[in-house]
Amino acid sequence: MEYANYEALREKILGRGVVVAIDGPSGSGKSTISRNVAAALDLGYLDTGAMYRAAAWGVEHRGVDLNDSAAIAAAVREMKLTVNAVPHAPRIFVDGIDVMHVIRTDHINTIVSSVSSVPEVRTVLIALQRDIIVQARQSTRGIVVEGRDITTVVAPDAQVRILLTASAETRVSRRALEDQGDARSETLDRERALVLDRDARDAKVTSFHTAADGVTTLDSTDLSVSQTLDTVMRLIDQATN
Ligand code: C5P
Repeated sequence: MEYANYEALREKILGRGVVVAIDGPSGSGKSTISRNVAAALDLGYLDTGAMYRAAAWGVEHRGVDLNDSAAIAAAVREMKLTVNAVPHAPRIFVDGIDVMHVIRTDHINTIVSSVSSVPEVRTVLIALQRDIIVQARQSTRGIVVEGRDITTVVAPDAQVRILLTASAETRVSRRALEDQGDARSETLDRERALVLDRDARDAKVTSFHTAADGVTTLDSTDLSVSQTLDTVMRLIDQATN
């Protein structure tokens, strides 16, 4: 099958409530690929990382001490997180405030793991994520969901489960280009610390470096976005025969 245009696959899965789960480390291309797949196949799109980022923003906004797990958990239980789970205009709100852009700062990158590593926070957010997935299934629209524990914990029953990886240097330079607009050596050094430290902190509570049973590993180190997209489309096609 040629995937130059994805219409045949979109037609095939239309109304079947297909769930595509993609996990992997920072800079593996999860968000870019997931958003593109969702847009091309007319599926919903859920960025679970944005939910943890929003929770971290909300915790700080309330002035909670980031060393106090119980206070973090209480703040996350209290806050109202709302997500617009679509690829063209994804939005996320904390207590009605649109935080879509403010959650993308270096500061949030630095603090998010302190919030996402609190077990009760994960329980609250995973329940919300599962609700969104169930709604997408029931509405028969289907959804692409991405995040570090999606294929294993949140949606182990997804029809398509992919671990998207890339070498550490590739991930660092992708993030440098995305965040700083260049990949000079000093930018890379700064980004290396941010990306690899965050992955190391996250790896204490989620497993996203090796694929679980039934999860396909896709290494995008030497692939362009369109080649990666193409491979993901093939996997979706095979899994939905
Ligand atoms: O994917 P992104 O880099 O936006 O994720 C931000 C942070 O959210 C991660 O560093 C991690 O701490 C947390 N996260 C998580 N579980 C997920 C998605 C993200 O713990 N499913």
